[in-house]
Order: sequence, then structure tokens, then C-alpha cells
Amino acid sequence: PENLATKVVLITGSASGIGEQLAYEYGRQGAFLSLVDIKKDKLVAVADKARSLGSPHVIIIGADVSKVEDCKRFVDETVNYFGHLDHLVNNAGIAMVKAVENCHDVSMLSSVMDVNFWGAVYGTLFAIPHLKKRKGKIVVIASACGWYPLPTLSFYNASKAAMISFFETLRTEVGWAIGITIVTPGMIKTDLCMHDILDIESSMRIVPMGTAVECAKAVLKGVCRGDMYVTEPSWVKMMFPWKL
Ligand code: NAD
Repeated sequence: PENLATKVVLITGSASGIGEQLAYEYGRQGAFLSLVDIKKDKLVAVADKARSLGSPHVIIIGADVSKVEDCKRFVDETVNYFGHLDHLVNNAGIAMVKAVENCHDVSMLSSVMDVNFWGAVYGTLFAIPHLKKRKGKIVVIASACGWYPLPTLSFYNASKAAMISFFETLRTEVGWAIGITIVTPGMIKTDLCMHDILDIESSMRIVPMGTAVECAKAVLKGVCRGDMYVTEPSWVKMMFPWKL
């Protein structure tokens, strides 16, 4: 497995859920951390815990990934502080539960794409030159929804499918220089995925299958092993039995 000690790792959306647990997992491996989230105040406690688990140094940056100038700033601040960047983890994301026919608020609709897809793209564009210098890695937290669309999550599903397509393409262009790991988790218990997320507007009941801790550990394994997908086959089997 790749030795992550002293690697400089930037994680977006690290104030809660999967991103928070990724901060702890990378911290345990001794990585330097740049933690980015729109909720900067919540990053303080995450940074403290990541340090206590073994990260030699953690910085926190408040930023909105859907804003291109914020993405430039968090990459610049990280490289200026640590001198280089080894891993970019595109994790920040939001979900919106709504049937397509009830979607009338256009600004709300575009925000899902702006955060999930454009947020990951912007950060990546600014990080590529730095990652190339280090034979670095990009980790993308997409979703099994990008493969198997769930009802009432159309814009979320589409944003995740777009992420998969974009980063698959990027791999064909820069894969020789930068490792790209696209992770497609199933249902994970976090703020984003409440237990009954899909009860709100659909007849489907979705029960989270994993914890953020399990997901983060699986991601780190994927990062160490190289390019791979992480899905929970049990989730796919339950939701889409005809696919297996
Ligand atoms: P979460 O809500 O616990 O964490 C998301 C984090 O992103 C939060 O800290 C939030 O403040 C931050 N964030 C939101 N918008 C932002 C913005 N504009 N700029 C910067 N930060 C922002 O949710 P989570 O479940 O941990 O989600 C993390 C990632 O995992 C997301 O990309 C999500 O789509 C993906 N994912 C989640 C599940 C699941 O079931 N929970 C499944 C598959 C994929």
C-alpha cells in the first residue's frame, strides 16, 4: 500500500460525514491535511481530532466549492502553505429530493450540479499542475446513484453520472501522471442521507447500508491500491436485483 505519511491531502466537504471520516483516516496514516468546507467553524474540531490521531499538521479553509474563485484560493493556499499537493479528494456534495414534475425552482436545481459536478471540476483544474509534479492522486466521491439512478434524485443522479464520465475522461488524458480513483458508495449514514431520505416524495424506502467510517476505510484501501470503484454489492442487489 502507498505510504501516506507526510503526503499533503486536500479534502473538500470535510466538516461532516464521509469527508470528516476521510480526514481521520488520512490523519491516522500521518498525512498533512488541508480541510475545506463551506462550514469552516465545524472544521476546527475535525482538525483537532485529525491531529490527535496522527496528522503532523492540519490547516482549515472556508470555501464554497461551487465558486470557481474559492476553488482557486483553496488550492493556492494549500500549496503556498505546504509547498506542494499530493492528493485532492473531491468529496463535497449536496442532494435534493424532489420528483422531476415538482421541480420549479431553477436556482435550487442548478445548485446540485454546481456543488457536486462543477465543484469537483474547478478544484481539479487548479490542482492538476501541482499533482502532476508529485505523481499525485485525485479521489472522487461520486455515488452508486451515478450508475443506478434512484427516483426523486434526478439531479443528484445526473451530477454523479457526470462526475464519473468527466473523471473517466480525465484518466484517459492525464492517467499516466495522476492516479484517479472514482468511488461510488451506496447508502451511507450521514447528514446527507437520512435513514428515510426517499420516503419524502417516493414510495421507495431506502435504508443506509454502511457508515461513514466504513466508507472512509474503503476509500483509503482504494487509494492505496490505485484506480478502482468501491460499491457495496449488497446495496445494488437490494435496489436493482435485475442488474446482478
Ligand atoms: P454530508 O452532508 O455529511 O457532508 C457533506 C459536506 O460537504 C458537509 O460538510 C457540507 O458542509 C459540505 N458542503 C456542502 N456544500 C458545500 C459547498 N458548496 N462547498 C464546500 N463544502 C460544501 O454528506 P456525506 O454523505 O458525507 O457526503 C459526502 C459525499 O459523499 C458527497 O459527495 C455525497 O454525494 C457522497 N455520497 C454520499 C452517500 C450517502 O449515502 N451519504 C452515498 C454516495 C455518495
